[in-house]
Amino acid sequence: MRSAFVTHADCLRHDMGAHHPERAQRLAAIEDQLIASGVAPHLARYEAPLASDEQLARVHPIEYVRAIREVAPEEGTVHLDPDTAMNPFTLQAALRAAGAAVLATDLVLKKEVNTAFCAVRPPGHHACRARAMGFCIFNNVAVAARHALAAHGLERVAIIDFDVHHGNGTEDIFEDDAQVLMASIFQHPFYPYSGTDSPAPNMVNVPLAAGSGTRELRAAVTKHWLPALEEFKPQLVIFSAGFDAHAEDDMAMLRFVDADYGWVTEQVKALAERHAGGRMVSLLEGGYALSALGRSAVQHIRVLAGLNA
Ligand SMILES: [Zn+2]
Repeated sequence: MRSAFVTHADCLRHDMGAHHPERAQRLAAIEDQLIASGVAPHLARYEAPLASDEQLARVHPIEYVRAIREVAPEEGTVHLDPDTAMNPFTLQAALRAAGAAVLATDLVLKKEVNTAFCAVRPPGHHACRARAMGFCIFNNVAVAARHALAAHGLERVAIIDFDVHHGNGTEDIFEDDAQVLMASIFQHPFYPYSGTDSPAPNMVNVPLAAGSGTRELRAAVTKHWLPALEEFKPQLVIFSAGFDAHAEDDMAMLRFVDADYGWVTEQVKALAERHAGGRMVSLLEGGYALSALGRSAVQHIRVLAGLNA
């Protein structure tokens, strides 16, 4: 079984300021741990292409895409919201991140690989239809899902979001879209304070209280995610892979450990093998404690690639 690793050097040049937690070193931390763990040689590396306006416009109004292109600075920094900024390299990075989502989906659905992980930034799951927020500009997992539906003719795609923050942008884009089931866990109450007030029927949201850890994660997945996914029978699984629920990550207050990321990936993989031919695409979202991020991502990627622990 082949597994792809999709990234691009342009994603390292996006910079939102010296003390911003969403920084280029995050991608280096993942690469370092892939090498240290011996996983790297088992992955087929691909360079992320630029997403096209047509691919982005399946998710965002074309006016929004054009506005992002127009506001991109030639020098200095432009803020899109208090947490989200563009430097002269951000537009290119954001187009690569969304383009990675498209390439990974193509590779998996054309059977060139069985699974793919995209080490890209900026992340995407807070990006709403027409609004950048929370470090996110284009919704990368949504671009992947709509590409699978529109360009490959799939009818059912599942999005699995284990980032510590609720993927409000993904919910905004897919609420009441019967072709997409979103299963998520997130700390609540916590930024962006969404996901709990009458979510749409295709949203399997499991809010977790601050301090929740391995036990609560595993109960949520077993009791809520897996039965809903089993009934939905996805033809492709896409991960919003954020690693900021790790106990060492002080962005939030959940207490997951490295092995939890392997466990949750195993559970979803078994389901994907039953219904989706094992096809899985994963896109990096959060994760700000560099060592924990690298180790946790390796746990996730190792399972995607079918390598034993
Ligand atoms: Zn997050």
